[in-house]
Amino acid sequence: MSRSSISQAVKNGRILISDGAWGTMLHELGLASGECPELWNLEHPDEVKKIASAYIAAGADMVETNSFGGSRIKLAHYGLEDRCSEINESAARLSREAAGEDHWVLGSIGPTGKMLIMGDISEEELFEAFREQAQALERGGADAICVETMSDLKEAEIAVRAAKEGTDLEIIATFTFELTAQGSYRSMMGVSPGDATKTMIAAGAEIIGTNCGSGFERMIPIVREIRDAAPGKPILVHANAGIPVQEAEGVRYPDTPAFMASLLPKLIEAGASVIGGCCGTGPDHIKALCDYRKGAEKED
Ligand SMILES: [Zn+2]
Repeated sequence: MSRSSISQAVKNGRILISDGAWGTMLHELGLASGECPELWNLEHPDEVKKIASAYIAAGADMVETNSFGGSRIKLAHYGLEDRCSEINESAARLSREAAGEDHWVLGSIGPTGKMLIMGDISEEELFEAFREQAQALERGGADAICVETMSDLKEAEIAVRAAKEGTDLEIIATFTFELTAQGSYRSMMGVSPGDATKTMIAAGAEIIGTNCGSGFERMIPIVREIRDAAPGKPILVHANAGIPVQEAEGVRYPDTPAFMASLLPKLIEAGASVIGGCCGTGPDHIKALCDYRKGAEKED
């Protein structure tokens, strides 16, 4: 393989641009609400590949996979738990076909929705489910596992350990933080960026970070907290296109590609080195980030 690891590229001083949202684009391509997005990896592979290709064409250095809800626990909502392996393998293969050999593929793993503290599920069941998903993503050709949108420290720790022990891939872990009334950032389950970072690194994550949340601007203080908890570790940010506004036609994300790109220097200064989008972002946002980076490199 000609690609180095993402961590190595960051250590060599590169700023990497990742991809944007998948859910939004799947809906644009016809995914109905209530339909299993991950089943599209088997039933509409060309549409899924189109999304990955659009991000590569926009200039992204890496693309995720359509497997955020691909654990057998999530797939069980649709009666698809027994197709977990083929769904995740296909997810990774489709992104790999779009990415070619010169771009990275991040195998997306999201939360299961089951609460350990409520006794919904055991730690062993969670571990097995995450390991199964991570291994299928590896078989399909992923370079890294991206455990993302996490809120519960224990679930995230189990996901990272399962991916680390079950595969040879690089492990990324990101949490979603919101601004509290007290003015600090916490996950929905009350975890601080510093605590999340330390626990994820101890569990085996090579890259840590934050995704979703409330837009690029609020990612800057979160990234500083992550950096202070783990100086020198690569930090990934997948930010939403601002704080969503509820409108008659649905939810609208206000941040334009140009606005997002204008915040890139501040985000990099805070410590981020892999930057992309989450909800409400599309290829135009990613292209704006890539263009901005190109301009900055010329000035050096
Ligand atoms: Zn999001």
